[in-house]
Amino acid sequence: MKIIPFFIPEVKCSGKCIYCNQQIITGEKKHSENDIPNLLREFLDNVKTPESDFEFAFFGGTFTAISKEIMRKLLEIIEIEFPQKRFKGIRFSTHPNSINQEIIETLSDFKISTIELGIQSFDKKVLKALGRSDDINRMIHAIKLIKDKGYKLGIQLMTCTPKETIWTHILNLKKLRALRPDYLRIYPLVVIKGTTLYRMYLDGDFISPSLEDSIKTTYLYIKKCREWGIKIIRMGLKNEPSLKKNIVVGPYHESYGELCWSYFFYRHIVKNLRKSKSGFFYINPVDISKFLGYKRKNIKKISNLYGFELEYKITNNISSGEILFQADINSGKDGN
Ligand code: SF4
Repeated sequence: MKIIPFFIPEVKCSGKCIYCNQQIITGEKKHSENDIPNLLREFLDNVKTPESDFEFAFFGGTFTAISKEIMRKLLEIIEIEFPQKRFKGIRFSTHPNSINQEIIETLSDFKISTIELGIQSFDKKVLKALGRSDDINRMIHAIKLIKDKGYKLGIQLMTCTPKETIWTHILNLKKLRALRPDYLRIYPLVVIKGTTLYRMYLDGDFISPSLEDSIKTTYLYIKKCREWGIKIIRMGLKNEPSLKKNIVVGPYHESYGELCWSYFFYRHIVKNLRKSKSGFFYINPVDISKFLGYKRKNIKKISNLYGFELEYKITNNISSGEILFQADINSGKDGN
C-alpha cells in the first residue's frame, strides 16, 4: 500500500538516547509543536492524492507525546483532507512510554490503522546503555493496548548496541515470538556526530561491530521472523544525505537490506549444497538479485567454494523469500 509520509521533527522528547540526533536523522529543522499543524498544511498543499489505496504516516519524533490538543488537530487535518475510500488510515511511530489507555481513547476518534513502537530492545542492560527507559512491563502493556484495539503493530529494534550479547537476540526473539507484531524494522546502530555515543566512541568506550557481523545478526531475525510470519519491512537506516555525511562509524550501507537478504539466500544455498552438489534452485522472479547476491557475490562465493556455477530456475510457483532445491540424483557430481 502507498504511504504519504510526513516527518515530525523532534518535539517533546526527553532527548536522552545516546545515539540520537533526530535533526540529522530526519534532515529536518527543530520546530515547536505549535508549528506542526501549519507545517502539515503546507506539506499537504503539495501532495497529490494517490490513485490506489494509501495510508498517511507521521514519522520521526514521538507522535503521542505531542500535546493532546495538537495531536487531535493533526489527525483532524488529515481526515478532512482525505475523506475518500482509498484513504485506509493513519499510521505513526511513537515511544512505548507514550501509549496509555487515555491516549488510545483519544485515538479511537480517528481512523488509525497502524502504530509503530520504537522498542529498540527487550534487554534491560541494552536499554540502560542506550539511555532509554528499561521498563519492559510498560512496553508490553503498550503493545497489548495497541493489539487489543485491533491496530496493526510495528516494532523497531536496534542491533549492534553497547552491552549487546547473543542473549539479547535470544531474548528479543522470544518476545517477538510471544508478542507477534505485524512487522519489524531493524536498525543497526551507527555512530552519528554530535551524539553521546560519538563521545563514547572517541573515548574508546564503544566499538562498533563490522558490517559483516551486523549482517549475520540481522540474519537471525530474518530466519526466525519468517518462520513466525512476522514481516521485516526494513533493515538498515534510510539513505538520507544529512545522515550519511554525519555517520562516523558503524555498519551502515546504502543497500543494507539487500546485503542481509543476499546473506540469507547464501546460507540457504550452502545448506542445500551440503546435501547434494547437483540440482536446481527454484526462486521467485523478485528474488533473483538476492539469490545471486549483492554484486553477484553469492554466485562468486559458491563458484570459489565448490568450483561450479549455481543452477537455478525462476518460477512464480513459489513465494518471494522462498527457495526450493531439487537435487539431481542422476548427476555425476560428487555429493559428499
Ligand atoms: S531516539 Fe526518539 S526518543 Fe530517543 S532521543 Fe531521539 S527522538 Fe527522543
